[in-house]
Amino acid sequence: MIARLPQKQLTAASTYDREDDKRPLDFRLIARLMSFTNPYRAKRNWLAVLVLIRSVQLPGLTWILSAVISGPVERADVTGVMWGMFAFAVLAISTQLVMHFRQRYAYELGEAVVHDLRNALFAHLQKMPMSFFYRTKVGRVISRMTSDIEDVRVGVQEVLYVSLVQLGQMCVATAFMLYYSPPLFLVVLGLVPILWMLNRYFHRRLSKALRAMRESFSRVTATLAESVLGIRVTQGFVRQDENARIFTDLVTFHSANNFKVLKTHGLFLPLLELNNQFFIALLMLVGGYRVLNPGSGTDVGDLVGFLFMANLFLAPITNLGNQYNQAMTAMAGAERLFKLLDTPPEWSDAESARDLPRMRGEVEFREITFGYDPERPVLNDISFVVQPGDMVALVGHTGSGKSTIINLIAKFSLAQKGRILIDGYDLHELTSSSIRRQLGVVLQQNFLFTGTLGDNIRFSKPDATDDELRAVLHKLECEDLLPDNLDTEVGERGQNLSLGQRQLVCFARAMLADPRILILDEATSSIDSITEARIQKALAILLKGRTSFVVAHRLSTIRHADLVLVLDHGRIVERGRHTELLSQRGTYEKLYQRFIQPA
Ligand code: ATP
Ligand code: MG
Repeated sequence: MIARLPQKQLTAASTYDREDDKRPLDFRLIARLMSFTNPYRAKRNWLAVLVLIRSVQLPGLTWILSAVISGPVERADVTGVMWGMFAFAVLAISTQLVMHFRQRYAYELGEAVVHDLRNALFAHLQKMPMSFFYRTKVGRVISRMTSDIEDVRVGVQEVLYVSLVQLGQMCVATAFMLYYSPPLFLVVLGLVPILWMLNRYFHRRLSKALRAMRESFSRVTATLAESVLGIRVTQGFVRQDENARIFTDLVTFHSANNFKVLKTHGLFLPLLELNNQFFIALLMLVGGYRVLNPGSGTDVGDLVGFLFMANLFLAPITNLGNQYNQAMTAMAGAERLFKLLDTPPEWSDAESARDLPRMRGEVEFREITFGYDPERPVLNDISFVVQPGDMVALVGHTGSGKSTIINLIAKFSLAQKGRILIDGYDLHELTSSSIRRQLGVVLQQNFLFTGTLGDNIRFSKPDATDDELRAVLHKLECEDLLPDNLDTEVGERGQNLSLGQRQLVCFARAMLADPRILILDEATSSIDSITEARIQKALAILLKGRTSFVVAHRLSTIRHADLVLVLDHGRIVERGRHTELLSQRGTYEKLYQRFIQPA
């Protein structure tokens, strides 16, 4: 199979960057993970008991067998054999019963831990300020929630308790081996390091192959996701063949990686088993020699028992190597999860922050300077005062800082210098939630959630009745533009609705909240002029009686503004009403000529 790494990949795939996928066992991490089992203490303690019982049961079964062989069988005592087998059957049944509960409790515990971890992470993410999301890739956040948590789940459900049982079984087998024949046990002890090293070598090779497989898989999924999302662009530019070729390359590469994993497995597993068998043969050789030498203290019964126990001791080693690897993967996952959980929000409301009483809607910026990166301000020395009920239009070139001003009013970011006052209260002294509750926000990239039309409007007021929703649509005079049925599914991100409809839903959402201050980042994309006029009308109704900030691209919006702020590279270069500004024949006039849509 040809392993050719595709040179050219679609963007999401090529920005894939690796994170460590292994971490040595770390007891602080384990302790912290285990603290998530505290609410399920009873189950955890029962599990510990079951682990102990099971560690004894498996060697116990083996012991009964060897005791029957070297006892009643040797004596030709039929009743003894029957009793022995009866004991064996009872123990066997109880062993499987314990196994059932051991497994069930481990699954339940792991599931509970994962459930709580997911909730904790989600709650934490929701609290993070915007700046965190500016920096963090969506893919990263998603892999915390999916593959990392999955690794931890496997760690708890499949690795931790299985390994404990196996270690316990090895300890009990050791005790038996020592009891049967200490000199033979020394031979086993000599073999363990060799076996362990062989295992490590194999698992290192395997985990390298696995890692390559995981990486190529995530390239495949990232490319697939992007291809589906961007299908219109692809078909629009007739790039299907080219994309298919890139995808085929990725899939071929991934197949090759898969194959490598299987090959490593196929090669080493038989080798490892052969090793175990070789060691048993060696023990048999040494043991047989001792049995044939009377006076060595080892008889046939001891040898049989010993070999049984040696098998119980050696068999888990192969497994443990694999589990050790999975445990390291779980450690890496847990570490990343906790790192995210421990990332404090860059800022949060001051302790002393108070709730803003019902606002009148006066907004003042005093010498505000702000940069997403503090070193590179994108707003410089911005000052203005807006009276309650006024409408402010923000105009300026792309990147001039219009959306940024809006972010600051909603306290999505904090300015590095200067003060923002709402009704005379400094934004710093107010809780974000009390501000946002009285703000209506319609963003540039309007966002609808998967769900019904009604759900999306109700987003701002979850307990609103259908009648309230209809009343809002009626007020906006746009019922006829939207689907009649509030239960209509809008599709993922609202894609079953037209652009204009989506905008109306966002207006309705804001209207329902009945905010004192309304923030609107007007979408630039043009909509046919009839709908456009209707949307403008809805907008005018929405803005009526509220303080509003509108990032405006349309003349009709700007003309109604009580104050137009003209931004250029993060500074206010002109301010006033539309007509005054036009007569100044400055930046605004130029913008007007070139960019502002006449609608
Ligand atoms: P447009 O008309 O295209 O929406 P805008 O006036 O709204 O432009 P802003 O979004 O306010 O422009 O951006 C102002 C500047 O801040 C730009 O230079 C932009 O590159 C930068 N910027 C915006 N968002 C971020 C972000 N999340 N992180 C870093 N820089 C950003
Ligand atoms: Mg913008």
